[in-house]
Amino acid sequence: MRKILVTGGNGLVGSQFVGENYYNLTSKECDLKNISQMDDLFYINDKNTFQTWGAVIHCAAKVGGLGGNMNYKGEFFYDNIMINTNVIESARKYGIEHLVCFLSTCVFPDNVEYPLTEDKIHLGPPHFSNDAYAYSKRMADVQIRAYREQYGLNYKSVIPTNIYGINDNFDIENGHVVPSLIHKCYIARETNTPLMIWGSGKPLREFIYNKDVAKLTEWVLDNYNEDEPIILSTSEEISIKEVVGVIVELMDFKGEVIYDKNKPDGQFRKPSDNSKIKHYLPNFKFTPLYDGLKETIEWFESNYDNIRK
Ligand code: GDP
Repeated sequence: MRKILVTGGNGLVGSQFVGENYYNLTSKECDLKNISQMDDLFYINDKNTFQTWGAVIHCAAKVGGLGGNMNYKGEFFYDNIMINTNVIESARKYGIEHLVCFLSTCVFPDNVEYPLTEDKIHLGPPHFSNDAYAYSKRMADVQIRAYREQYGLNYKSVIPTNIYGINDNFDIENGHVVPSLIHKCYIARETNTPLMIWGSGKPLREFIYNKDVAKLTEWVLDNYNEDEPIILSTSEEISIKEVVGVIVELMDFKGEVIYDKNKPDGQFRKPSDNSKIKHYLPNFKFTPLYDGLKETIEWFESNYDNIRK
């Protein structure tokens, strides 16, 4: 049986790879920034057997929403450059033929013709709010292309749009918009205070459910073998204001909703073109946002004491 190493194994995406084929590595077990810890990681049992993983799904990253990206640029750059460089190089060194690496739509240039397609990653500087993170992820793309070319390995990247779902980090200051809003709405409901939204509510995003990302990635691991990354997206834009509306309804919040114009809007929109994944998987059914949010909120409410927040 092929054993697949999943880095970031209990995170938003990594936790969705379940079953005996997977080993979900957590940050407590190995500091991926430290190359000398990789030997122990890449030998499955002990060093005498020389057994390594059948494949690697590399989800581990220092991530955050708009706040985290703006507040911790140095850390976001260093941690991600080190993690990606080490994981990809170690996979090569230990003879692993198949690897999928996670990028993000924020790798794309700020000023670029929409929709975003896989060939536009390096055409200009990313948005200033997340440039450190974006450049570190762009380097993973460069590394993967270089390894494909020099070593002939089947390594590739996926570019998901805004992911949400259970097991997210619900940190209010540094989390992504969906988990932050769910957590803020919960507090506003419990304390009878207004729900504060950052910015104007007008920016548009494309949300994808973490379970869908995992299913698509399983397909990519065994079936996709191109130099260019592949975008994982519904290509359906929705405004932050509409997302707020759904969360408020599902959480039965009756209080006031305030849009705080002193907080940043970030990029206005970043619509992506999902033609490539649609071409390969024309019948794939994405989870509707309403259904995914409902599951996420139910999970959040019943696990409130133990979640990352
Ligand atoms: P981005 O897609 O990389 O910008 O990441 P986010 O998931 O952080 O989404 C940011 C968008 O949601 C921006 O338009 C924010 O203004 C808006 N937003 C509204 N309220 C919040 C909030 O509480 N937290 C975050 N992170 N974003 C919020």
